[in-house]
Amino acid sequence: FDPLTNKAPVGRLPDGSFSRYAGCDRFSQLPVSKKTKDGLTQCKYKTMTDIQRASLPHSLSGRDILGAAKTGSGKTLAFVIPVLEKLYKARWGPEDGVGCIIMSPTRELAGQLFEVLKSVGKHHGFSAGLLIGGRKDVDAEKEHVNALNILVCTPGRLLQHMDETPNFDCSQLQVLVLDEADRILDVGFKKELNAIISQLPKHRQTLLFSATQTKSVQDLARLSLKDPEYLGVHEES
Ligand code: ADP
Ligand code: MG
Repeated sequence: FDPLTNKAPVGRLPDGSFSRYAGCDRFSQLPVSKKTKDGLTQCKYKTMTDIQRASLPHSLSGRDILGAAKTGSGKTLAFVIPVLEKLYKARWGPEDGVGCIIMSPTRELAGQLFEVLKSVGKHHGFSAGLLIGGRKDVDAEKEHVNALNILVCTPGRLLQHMDETPNFDCSQLQVLVLDEADRILDVGFKKELNAIISQLPKHRQTLLFSATQTKSVQDLARLSLKDPEYLGVHEES
């Protein structure tokens, strides 16, 4: 990053490599589908935040990401946009089943990001489900979980489906997202996460985002990422 402007210099990604999309400020300049652009416009998103500007050129080209940026910096769109585009480019349809899993440490955060996914992704035809513990009837969920394209879930509920739902199938998974990856470890999900990851296909894109780049996140990265792009966006002090 340019120390004066805290922005990626035009023409270069933060790692120094050139990209025609580096230095873009607006979502409209990104190589994304009209459906996604229309969703962003209707949600009144125009200018990218730093973490979005730094990560989207990489994530949209299919690379694994480990992104760290403080709370409120816009990490949700940094994974929602590449998820939508990955499935769109793969012409993912109702028959293709689970193409993406987004994990979040709490029901509340899962619910919030589900709303962002629904509103920005509303012009796409993907089916998405919120799988979280609590009052929701897990038996009813089991009936239709295999028909969903995008699962937004807490680790415990996902593992419950992996263990209990007949024919639960994520063998075609294209993208795995861990939101608040550091917190997923902090609150003791490590065992569950390892159990989940061991059941997922290895050929996939993995996007990890968290508020801090802790060592445990790097441990996690070693478990699941392939040659990841490490991106840290920090405020100037
Ligand atoms: P984080 O996950 O990093 O804590 P969020 O993704 O929840 O941050 O975003 C924080 C707030 O910023 C939300 O209200 C969101 O709508 C808003 N936001 C995110 N990206 C943009 C953007 N590019 N332009 C304007 N507002 C944005
Ligand atoms: Mg967030």
